[in-house]
Amino acid sequence: MKITKHGQRIYDLLQASQGHMTAEEILLILKQQNVSIGLATVYRNLNSLFSLGMINRVRHPEMGFIYDRNKHDHYHFYDTETKEFHDLDIAYQEELDRLVEEVFGGKVKTHSIIFEGIIDEDHKLKK
Ligand SMILES: [Zn+2]
Repeated sequence: MKITKHGQRIYDLLQASQGHMTAEEILLILKQQNVSIGLATVYRNLNSLFSLGMINRVRHPEMGFIYDRNKHDHYHFYDTETKEFHDLDIAYQEELDRLVEEVFGGKVKTHSIIFEGIIDEDHKLKK
């Protein structure tokens, strides 16, 4: 699998962003830059970038996939006022995987947590 011109552009766009974007947000920016592209192509390229391990994605119950430039396992805080995603500087809790394995059996590959609320003004400044 190779990255297309559009794919590279989308990748660069995500790297230059605050870190998290939906496909619709990416499409909007590309349109503003007069790039001739449709939503299906944006999704196809995002899927390729994800499959290649170049970007990450988070599944939000209402917003669908949020594409993420941070490829490490991490948790998120969704500010319900600003509608922005933030990475949380909290260590990935591997013991949660073990706990679930103990309770249900089987093998846990990964887990994700999105906290929702409102961030303090002080923290917003540090973004
Ligand atoms: Zn993130």
